[in-house]
Amino acid sequence: MTQDQWGRLKQDLLKSVGKSNFKSWIEPLELSHLEEGVATFAVPTSFVGNYVSQKYGDQILYHVQSVSPEIRRVHFQVPGNQARRPAQARPAAAPAEPAIRRDPMMPAAPLDKRFTFDTFVVGKPNELAHAAAKRVASGGPVTFNPLFLYGGVGLGKTHLMHAIAWELSERQPELNVVYLSAEQFMYRFVQALRERKMMDFKSMFRAVDVLMVDDVQFIAGKESTQEEFFHTFNALVDGGKQIIISADRAPGEIENLEERIKSRLQCGLVVDLHPTNYELRLGILQSKVEYYRTQYPGLQLADGVLEFLAMRITKNVRVLEGALTRLFAFASLVGHEITLELTQDCLADVLRSSERQVTIEEIQRQVSDHFNIRLSDLIGPKRVRVFARPRQVAMYLAKQMTSRSLPEIGRRFGGRDHTTVMHGVRRIDELRVTDSQIAEDLELLRRTLEA
Ligand code: ADP
Ligand code: MG
Repeated sequence: MTQDQWGRLKQDLLKSVGKSNFKSWIEPLELSHLEEGVATFAVPTSFVGNYVSQKYGDQILYHVQSVSPEIRRVHFQVPGNQARRPAQARPAAAPAEPAIRRDPMMPAAPLDKRFTFDTFVVGKPNELAHAAAKRVASGGPVTFNPLFLYGGVGLGKTHLMHAIAWELSERQPELNVVYLSAEQFMYRFVQALRERKMMDFKSMFRAVDVLMVDDVQFIAGKESTQEEFFHTFNALVDGGKQIIISADRAPGEIENLEERIKSRLQCGLVVDLHPTNYELRLGILQSKVEYYRTQYPGLQLADGVLEFLAMRITKNVRVLEGALTRLFAFASLVGHEITLELTQDCLADVLRSSERQVTIEEIQRQVSDHFNIRLSDLIGPKRVRVFARPRQVAMYLAKQMTSRSLPEIGRRFGGRDHTTVMHGVRRIDELRVTDSQIAEDLELLRRTLEA
């Protein structure tokens, strides 16, 4: 790929990402060099690099490959920042490489170096899956086979599988650990059929010690792939080799999957990753922020921002992470403290789309129930503490859990002024820290409203 070609690809990208994204993220990218299948682009800051890589990495790679098919990866680097080399050049990643690339024909997917047990935050919704993954990663005798992990999108299945692969390849570098998606499995199978290399394909897979197949629901309805998968699976289990499978639902619920495969998949340990709860989301955000702080020491984060995100973005961890990355990228560009206002501005679209249908009325009803007062007293004019405090709690929750503005909230609380609402919200925000009873009330109410 030449500079000219990159210039033209940029114009193609302009069409697909839109003008304003293009201006912020694509236009600043300069092709720096090509080396060993990696195209490196210069970026102004590591935040821009991280953001572009997450958000546009695949798209850029796709375009780049249209002119240079030999490029396998794109990499974004701050010029002169040699510490930030691609993963494969780092010694830390080296031990895993031989294990994973032992057979150059082997269709293994690269492992994400961020997906380790160290970076996986454990909470109630995922503790079982985490414990099972840890057990498999300890490399002892095979106790359950297969390990079947399932759960909705973005809840950490792939992360756990990579973590197992990293840990195993560190503990036992001699093991032949193979991780791939069900899609890759199928692709290689079809290719082997076409090139009449089925014997090679079979023997390659039979030589694996630990096989991980991600998103196995993909082979539903693909009969010959299922057939081959079944044989591979049986051969490995019979040989006492560990298998780890993931899917977006339980084995019994995958439609168009042969019965015998379903029942084989259920033979081992089946564990699910539950949707995240508030604590887990907050924990994940905190651990990400710690990481960002090391990257960007000057960054200021206002109190309550993480709590706000954990409360409002409930969809999945991927969306949550994306939101945080964007927030930090934005803040680093404009050089401001990350306040609640900035967060709401910068993430307006994400917040809107993940908005739960909690209404102010619901909040008012729950709060009056909780404090055992009448709804009319909660909303009405009386200013005694027994009504005023619950009212402030309700205002606080309305501000946090809905996207209503302060004046709108004021209107729903008997036509109060927006400054009254603001005062109430602030008051609760302070009490939250000093008064454990209030903190507990809020927590309970939030849970009920979220459910
Ligand atoms: P899945 O494969 O279930 O769709 P992923 O494993 O790809 O989901 O996770 C999506 C993103 O969320 C990844 O970046 C992953 O690191 C992150 N993630 C998910 N769960 C956790 C967790 N418990 N702790 C830290 N990061 C997590
Ligand atoms: Mg996945």
